[in-house]
Amino acid sequence: MTLPASLDEAVAALAAMPAAVPVAGGTDLMAAVNRGLLRPAGLVGLGRINEIRGWQYQDGHALLGAGLTHARMGRPDFAALIPALAAAARAAGPPQIRNAGTLGGNIASAAPTGDALPVLAALEATLVIAGPDGARREIPVSHLLAGRDMLAPAELIGYVRVPLLHAPQVFLKATGRTGPGRATASVAVVLDPARRGVRCAVGAIAPMPLRPLEAERWIASLIDWDGERAALAPEALGAFGEYVAAACIPDPAPSVDGAPPPPLSPAVLHLRRTVAALARRALGRALS
Ligand SMILES: Cc1cc2nc3c(=O)[nH]c(=O)nc-3n(C[C@H](O)[C@H](O)[C@H](O)COP(=O)(O)OP(=O)(O)OC[C@H]3O[C@@H](n4cnc5c(N)ncnc54)[C@H](O)[C@@H]3O)c2cc1C
Repeated sequence: MTLPASLDEAVAALAAMPAAVPVAGGTDLMAAVNRGLLRPAGLVGLGRINEIRGWQYQDGHALLGAGLTHARMGRPDFAALIPALAAAARAAGPPQIRNAGTLGGNIASAAPTGDALPVLAALEATLVIAGPDGARREIPVSHLLAGRDMLAPAELIGYVRVPLLHAPQVFLKATGRTGPGRATASVAVVLDPARRGVRCAVGAIAPMPLRPLEAERWIASLIDWDGERAALAPEALGAFGEYVAAACIPDPAPSVDGAPPPPLSPAVLHLRRTVAALARRALGRALS
């Protein structure tokens, strides 16, 4: 395994060995190797690249290194900056996974159950991609998750640019069991008072996080942004939850021959109720 000391060295190592793959914490990659799904011809380890293990401030944004571990993001100083990402990091698997697993690995794996992903979608984060010869390009995180801007073989996620909103934000996750587990559904809600916006993303129920844009606009229009304390009646919170859930898990379309659409299955109805409850609670907590 090659262990470069800088992002550009890592990119150069990947360019020189096209069959090699990058490995950060190895929690996803080694699981795939152990299951026989992957046999990389070489590995480029990212664990010694100090420049991507912390964060810096830039024009009202935080530039997060892709090598930040979940454990580091879960600490109080990070939680004071980006509370929803810290909450997602604290929920990302058992301690040994959080100690090794990284933000960049979570994004590059792009698993539907990646806990950081709905938070990054709600924050409208962008990725700084490092390429050969010091090249850098910036893309919305949603493009990579949708497969619209795939990484070229010698490209790496270097940094994640996240706006610092200085306002409440919440991440909530439902799992199929007690204790740490993969999300069956997750919701991130972010308040953006400067733009009088509420942004919400639902994770784990589709290949990539879903944004219920109409529900966001509707609920933002009900909030008294100039009041001493932004608050909403419980009925409005409940309606927001239902709106989000119905937008992300819609009713079946009516059939062309006019026959009534088939009902949602009990499992899908349960998932819809879970999403509604998470969205209602997340917004309630953000406003409380
Ligand atoms: C038991 C278990 C429980 C888990 N529970 C959760 C959970 O609850 N929530 C959750 O979100 N995740 C969970 N995970 C998944 C995993 O821990 C995370 O996705 C983690 O963030 C992956 O990071 P990593 O550094 O270990 O990635 P790695 O395994 O090192 O890499 C994963 C993929 O990303 C690529 N990659 C890594 N870094 C970069 C980079 N900078 N640029 C480009 N490509 C890169 C690698 O080539 C590889 O394809 C769990 C995993 C296990 C094994």
